[in-house]
Amino acid sequence: MIEQGDFANGTSSATSQLVHGGFRYLLKRDIELVKNSRREREILCRIAPNLVKPIPLALLCYKGDPYPLTGMQLAAHYYNRLSKTDEKEKSITIRDVRKIQHLVGPIATNTLKGCVLLWDSTVDDARLTLATIKDAHRHGAIVANYVRFLNFLDQQETVNAENRIYKVAAEDVISRQCFEISARKIVSATGPWSDHIWRKDPSYDGIPRLLAENAKGIHLLLPRCEKEDDAGTYGLISFTQVEKQRRRNPRVIFILPGAHNTSIVGTTETTPEEDLVSVRPSTNEVTYLLSETQRIFPERTLNKDTIIAAYAGTRPLIAAKRHIHGFSKTDFVSREHLITESPSGIMYLYGGKLTTHRQMAEETVNHLATFLNVRRACKTAVYPLPDAVGEASGTDAERLVRRYGEGYSTIQKFITEDGTLAEPVTPSLPFTKAELLYAYWGEMAITLEDLLWRRTRIGWTPGQGVDIAPKIAQFLGEKNNWSHTKISAEVEAYRERIHWLNFNL
Ligand SMILES: Cc1cc2nc3c(=O)[nH]c(=O)nc-3n(C[C@H](O)[C@H](O)[C@H](O)COP(=O)(O)OP(=O)(O)OC[C@H]3O[C@@H](n4cnc5c(N)ncnc54)[C@H](O)[C@@H]3O)c2cc1C
Repeated sequence: MIEQGDFANGTSSATSQLVHGGFRYLLKRDIELVKNSRREREILCRIAPNLVKPIPLALLCYKGDPYPLTGMQLAAHYYNRLSKTDEKEKSITIRDVRKIQHLVGPIATNTLKGCVLLWDSTVDDARLTLATIKDAHRHGAIVANYVRFLNFLDQQETVNAENRIYKVAAEDVISRQCFEISARKIVSATGPWSDHIWRKDPSYDGIPRLLAENAKGIHLLLPRCEKEDDAGTYGLISFTQVEKQRRRNPRVIFILPGAHNTSIVGTTETTPEEDLVSVRPSTNEVTYLLSETQRIFPERTLNKDTIIAAYAGTRPLIAAKRHIHGFSKTDFVSREHLITESPSGIMYLYGGKLTTHRQMAEETVNHLATFLNVRRACKTAVYPLPDAVGEASGTDAERLVRRYGEGYSTIQKFITEDGTLAEPVTPSLPFTKAELLYAYWGEMAITLEDLLWRRTRIGWTPGQGVDIAPKIAQFLGEKNNWSHTKISAEVEAYRERIHWLNFNL
């Protein structure tokens, strides 16, 4: 498996961090999609319990919303029935506005009719991706980050398709060295980049498979509202005012608990103007999310200075199934996935959600196994992901196991060999030096951004890690024999990246 950047550097670290059935798709009557996603949530809660955590979500219902409280109540009941629901995850309706405020913080109550509580799950998307890749590696997969696919090379001609050998040109993004990779089958699982690969396919027919319209989405990270007792552990969803006024498709805004005492506020649906690798929050998107949050929390002072961080991603939306080999439905935009093979024999995974990634992988690998004449039953729905399970006692041990699962024992080993690695890298954050080393020695982090933005989420703390980047780089430099030039270059690259990302904040 080759990845042109860091693992999960694309959309898979820019989600709303939800493993969910998609309640709003139920309102759009997309029952099959919801059913599948609910089933996948159940599986992920089982195989990755340390990462995929159930979360109660309060669906607020204000006067004038597109659906009345009773309608939402019925839909929530149906939502639960689409999968096996734990008794404690039963949906309930709350009309007492004080009680709602107690759960979700000091929200506006003037026209609040009530809320419906239902359960989905949250996840650290980048860590779930990494846990999955590490498990594949344990089972024999060769995985490489910072290796880019460049082009398809001529295939070796054979009498039958099963014996065909495909060749691609690839590039080591760090050293700029180019080389060839041969394989019996090639799968493009490149999310929003799928059409970039498709354009290079020898059988490219000139028709894009993905849709750019409304594909971009951003999120803001704000300090979590700590005013009420339980506030912070519940997420909330509300219909947005702006879209209601425009009488457009009713959209919702989420405010969810995120890592390091943040609230994740999302999301938007806009048509990206920029290149895929350079999507970042625009001024309009930031203003829109801030004003919607302010409407819900009128007592809070919210402005651009309140924002801790922001990020953007591009949805891999399937454009028109009818164009794609083997499908004949009329045009529609969907969160569903599609696995297809081009006439030249390249497999493509289109669409999908983070929630359904395991199912997409299962279907793809089953197809490959049939093609390669390998008989094996898929066990990913049953076997836990080692990096997302485990227990330990003690505050620090618990935190490490929750984040690294089995990786905890390697971190412990580092500390046993060198006691100084148990020290925090900086007093303001809980991360130990051993953890940071583990990102490099055990999880293939290459740059400071990989470490601060995806492995640890230090980038989601006030200052986004820019202030402590020199100290961290110095420590890593000493352990990895980096030159002074490399240490400075790493710090500068991270600083520039954050500056660029925050340009419109
Ligand atoms: C704003 C937003 C919020 C979302 N929220 C949720 C949510 O809460 N829950 C949910 O279930 N889903 C959510 N989604 C959808 C979900 O994020 C995506 O469906 C999923 O992450 C797509 O994964 P992917 O692997 O297909 O794409 P990506 O994660 O983008 O991965 C594709 C990878 O291919 C690599 N690549 C591209 N070209 C090359 C090349 N030439 N050589 C090598 N590698 C290459 C890229 O670097 C990239 O890392 C959200 C999406 C967005 C945009």
